[in-house]
Amino acid sequence: MLVLKFGGTSVGTAERIKDVGRLIVGGKAKIVVLSAMSGTTNRLLEYAGYLFKNEKYAARKHLNSLKQHYYSIIDELFNTSSGKGKAEGLIQYHFEYLDSFNRDLFTHFEEKAVLAQGEMISTALMHYHLEEIGITSVLLPALSFMRIDKDQEPDNYYIKENLERERIQHPDANLFITQGFICRDVFGEIDNLKRGGSDYTASIIGAAIDAEEIQIWTDIDGFHNNDPRIVKNTTRIDELSFDEVAELAYFGAKILHPTSVRPAQLKNIPVRLKNTLLPDSPGTLITEKVSGKGKIKAVAAKDGISSIRIRSGRMLLAYGFLRKVFEIFESHKTSIDMITTSEVSVSVTIDETEHLDAIVEDLQKYGTVSLTNDQSIVCVVGDLIAERKGVARIVLNALSDIPLRMISYGSSSNNISLLINSSDKDKALNELSKQLFK
Ligand code: ASP
Ligand code: MG
Repeated sequence: MLVLKFGGTSVGTAERIKDVGRLIVGGKAKIVVLSAMSGTTNRLLEYAGYLFKNEKYAARKHLNSLKQHYYSIIDELFNTSSGKGKAEGLIQYHFEYLDSFNRDLFTHFEEKAVLAQGEMISTALMHYHLEEIGITSVLLPALSFMRIDKDQEPDNYYIKENLERERIQHPDANLFITQGFICRDVFGEIDNLKRGGSDYTASIIGAAIDAEEIQIWTDIDGFHNNDPRIVKNTTRIDELSFDEVAELAYFGAKILHPTSVRPAQLKNIPVRLKNTLLPDSPGTLITEKVSGKGKIKAVAAKDGISSIRIRSGRMLLAYGFLRKVFEIFESHKTSIDMITTSEVSVSVTIDETEHLDAIVEDLQKYGTVSLTNDQSIVCVVGDLIAERKGVARIVLNALSDIPLRMISYGSSSNNISLLINSSDKDKALNELSKQLFK
């Protein structure tokens, strides 16, 4: 069994829905996970925004314009009057439900039910479209099996049991369609896996059914070895390991939601990134295996970083100093990304500056604090185990003209992170590409 996930842009228009329809028919048995059509989740969020403010009129107007949008999609997607009729009934039903929130008290619980409608609609439209062109598919209701526990983590046992229960009702089916993103919480109320969570759904389902492969279909040709917006002639990476992807996903390579590979990784299920616009391209395959021994595979960068340095004589030969420093960040719910230390100072970076002033004030109890904003982390990923000579030298050589504020190497065997001024980022990425991938 395969699991295929298509994101919002891949099902963003009637034409694109038809394209996905062509991609999923035939071949191996599969579960197809769909996001809401692109723009929908944002528009539902705006609708919820009006309801929170009790702006009933603006809310209704906003909802109506989204509904009209869907009617025009139906017009294009369906050719038969029975197909159109079913789809119109569907839109009618979901928009009446959405409108019903305009009468009562609106809280964050209702907001989640509102947001869930996007995926309910996209999956049903796909199902009706396939039906119209003579292809049988089964709609699996995600709300009947996808569930998170009290810590907001997927309840894997529940998911496996209930997904199985849903599936065995259709012993002959080989094409299932289900909603990404949406789930129930521990009380059985509608919830979701956070924005961009459809990748996570696919990975959770893949793990639950021991899928042969999980495919994440987007509009990009897999992971590239550098940022194509900044560097010309980047190339697709054929194979990456889960650990390499985890580093890249955090550092701005936006094609995969960072937490989403974890369930697949735990069960060692291969994840393949595929391009809907180039379906025959093999894309990027992610497995447990580290391929390309000793090779540097990719470079990524993250902007909006602030670095904080704490210098203190008290740190010399003391124990427990780092704990005190980290506790300050913890108490302000701010996560630290990069760390470097010397005997009398420690530097850390953060990408969340909401509590920065308070953090600096607290840190001043322990030493002299200096702060630098507008920094970028450049991350070099590959098979960089310490036993191999010279990898750091190649990276540093490429950056010989750029001031380096922090360097982190050795915490994992597949990453070197460097902190630079954001104004040097484009140059750094280009120089790295020139030296590493020539
Ligand atoms: N529709 C949801 C969102 O826009 C989930 C997803 O697309 O992955 O965040
Ligand atoms: Mg996405």
